[in-house]
Amino acid sequence: MAFDAVHILEVKSTFAGREMLLHPVLLVDPDGATLVDTGMPGQFELLRAAIERVVGSLERVRRILLTHQDIDHIGNAARVKEASGATVSAHAADIPYIQGERPLLKANPERLRAMLASAPEEVRRQMEAVFSAPPAVHVDTALEDGQVLPIAGGLTVVATPGHTPGHISLYLPRERLLISADALTVQEGVVRGPNPTNTPDTRAAAASVRKLAGLAVDAVVAYHGGLCTQDSGAQLRALAQELA
Ligand SMILES: [Zn+2]
Repeated sequence: MAFDAVHILEVKSTFAGREMLLHPVLLVDPDGATLVDTGMPGQFELLRAAIERVVGSLERVRRILLTHQDIDHIGNAARVKEASGATVSAHAADIPYIQGERPLLKANPERLRAMLASAPEEVRRQMEAVFSAPPAVHVDTALEDGQVLPIAGGLTVVATPGHTPGHISLYLPRERLLISADALTVQEGVVRGPNPTNTPDTRAAAASVRKLAGLAVDAVVAYHGGLCTQDSGAQLRALAQELA
């Protein structure tokens, strides 16, 4: 892809009977790599292989940035941290969940029961196994809105609550690239809002989309849907108006 320091990974597997393609991002600097989000529990080897294809070794990962507490983002943070010695950072509002001090917001038993009511037996077992032992990890540093991290020429933290209270997106002004995580999705090259079924606070999420639309953006990479370079700034502004 066109941005030297930015590598959009693909981690594919079947979960709950559906094919799931996730896009963690690897940002490569001379002093090591930064991994943005870590896939589902059980995907460690897939993630490791994807990282090794870019930087040769998992030990090159020096920092893990978690965009939020959802299980498909934190799934392998503990294992990558253990294998590489990388530090873990996340927004303060999601840290207690990521550290396992509070149950993951979207893993409460009622919600799960409702979600799994009509699921086949095997899917139900797979889901219950994953959510019964969420992969907690110690977070070393808290990220704040507007903070600029010395990564890939300057990486700006943009607090984008709604999908979770501590959800963040990451912005690279030099590349005019927005790593939206789940504040946006991309579907067949089109920028869309967050998935409504997994976004408890839709008002906050819409405000976050409007906030993102104020950035100068040429490309968006969404965790679910991947890269969009097709008029993404204009698409984002149109979406923000739609959600207003
Ligand atoms: Zn997600």
